[in-house]
Amino acid sequence: MKLKHFLVCASMAFFCVLSALTSCGSRNSDEKNTAEEDSVPMCSCPHAVICIQPYGNYTKQEASRLLPVLEENFGKWMYGGWQFKVLEPKPLPEEAYVKERDRYRAGAILQELSKNPKKVDGLNAVYIGLAHKDICTDIHNAKNYGIMGLSYCPGNVCVVSDHRIKTKSMVWKLMLHEFIHAFYGGKHCPNDNPKCFMKDAKGKGNIEVQDRLCDSCNRQ
Ligand SMILES: [Zn+2]
Ligand SMILES: [Zn+2]
Repeated sequence: MKLKHFLVCASMAFFCVLSALTSCGSRNSDEKNTAEEDSVPMCSCPHAVICIQPYGNYTKQEASRLLPVLEENFGKWMYGGWQFKVLEPKPLPEEAYVKERDRYRAGAILQELSKNPKKVDGLNAVYIGLAHKDICTDIHNAKNYGIMGLSYCPGNVCVVSDHRIKTKSMVWKLMLHEFIHAFYGGKHCPNDNPKCFMKDAKGKGNIEVQDRLCDSCNRQ
């Protein structure tokens, strides 16, 4: 898989560099296939525009501060070209609010995110909603169970909340986790490895110790 992707992408290196698709272009920046120049082929490596949608009191500045660590880690753990955009914040959808739990239903947020354009700048768009408020869904035989993230798997929308994590700056790990569910239809870590980003958090999880995609979950 890795070799195949590399070969396809290496042959399209010129187009990748032109497109400034960071991971794709940077891996192959010293390889140029000028024969591709006239035909302007499409690069076959996976790529997407990842649109970050801050919700409620999550500010655009806070979301923008995540960009360096997102760019670094998406590039490090997933082969492809990833571009990030931070959208203008918007209120959490009123219909998502569960008053008795003071939580927002993640499914309703995903529905709203699904109304966004499927393509941005000609590339497939993936939307990641970002909230400080607690989010929930019906799972583990419980209604409005508090969760850290949810996505359509596969799909192009995800939502995460940093309400349940101690170190708020580590929310990027939730974003990576949900993105893998959505973009690749990736499942939870089959090894239940506590260090793996794809470990099922089951509503609490300890993302502080997560520092890798294990060999089973690796997307490189
Ligand atoms: Zn794993
Ligand atoms: Zn998950």
